[in-house]
Amino acid sequence: MRGFVCAQQQPLFRIRPLVGPLPKIIDAHAHLSERGDDALARFAEMNSLRYTLDGLLESMRENNVGRGLLLSPPLRSGVPLPNEEVFGLCRRSGGLLSPVVTVEPSAKEVRAAIRLAESNRKEVKAFKVRLGYVKAPAVSPLFEGLYDYAESEGLPVMFHTGDTVTSTGDLAKSHPLTLDALANKREELTIILCHFGNPWFEEVAELIYKHPRVYTDISGLTTGGGAYPDKFAGWLAGKISEAIYFAGGPEKVIFGTDYPITTYSDALDLVRRLDVDEGDREMILWRNAETVFKL
Ligand SMILES: [Zn+2]
Repeated sequence: MRGFVCAQQQPLFRIRPLVGPLPKIIDAHAHLSERGDDALARFAEMNSLRYTLDGLLESMRENNVGRGLLLSPPLRSGVPLPNEEVFGLCRRSGGLLSPVVTVEPSAKEVRAAIRLAESNRKEVKAFKVRLGYVKAPAVSPLFEGLYDYAESEGLPVMFHTGDTVTSTGDLAKSHPLTLDALANKREELTIILCHFGNPWFEEVAELIYKHPRVYTDISGLTTGGGAYPDKFAGWLAGKISEAIYFAGGPEKVIFGTDYPITTYSDALDLVRRLDVDEGDREMILWRNAETVFKL
């Protein structure tokens, strides 16, 4: 995972008091476990984040983020945190976090994921496929049952796209253009390309322009250290702004952090830097997610 920490700046969104209506910003892509073998713990450390449920909820509150979708982080063994543990964390969040079910490519895992979604219909907001980390591509027949179910229930499927957090990831499988064939075949399926396909921003611009049900999130784009943090953040904002112009608007772009990989302040700083209208920023920060995930 490449990227740089953005310079800390004044908060764009005023911190609100603890009482009153929930702030509207939605983080559509956060990870958490409270386990010692969580492979993302090193990012939490690097970003000086308290990687616990309390720490995440406090970060959200401080940054005026009202709701979040919680995804399974990878464990050091390479497998994702069991979905049941994601559900447990969401239950403890008092309704602030909703689960996304991670689906691995096997008939057994697909069946288990569908069962879990069936028995928690109100809670589950989407599925997630870890392209680039698992051996199967998006169009694998192993996922057919999942796509059938997701289509019939109107549940989006989120796909990791682009750069992988480990140097052994398979970029040929996480390349965003691999989703074109799936979107052609399944016009009813809502597809979300996570991380804007980083660094294949133009490819994602074309996909969100071409396909009525293909969206993207801007999570996990700034992290780590680097010599040109400010220039890098500006470059990213330029790429995303241009993609929005190409796509004809911000309707397909969704805010997310990839917590703990990117901090809330850096992720919000990226939105602040986009060269778009205030109304469009609002769509990116919460309106689009509210519609797509039916929140
Ligand atoms: Zn992620």
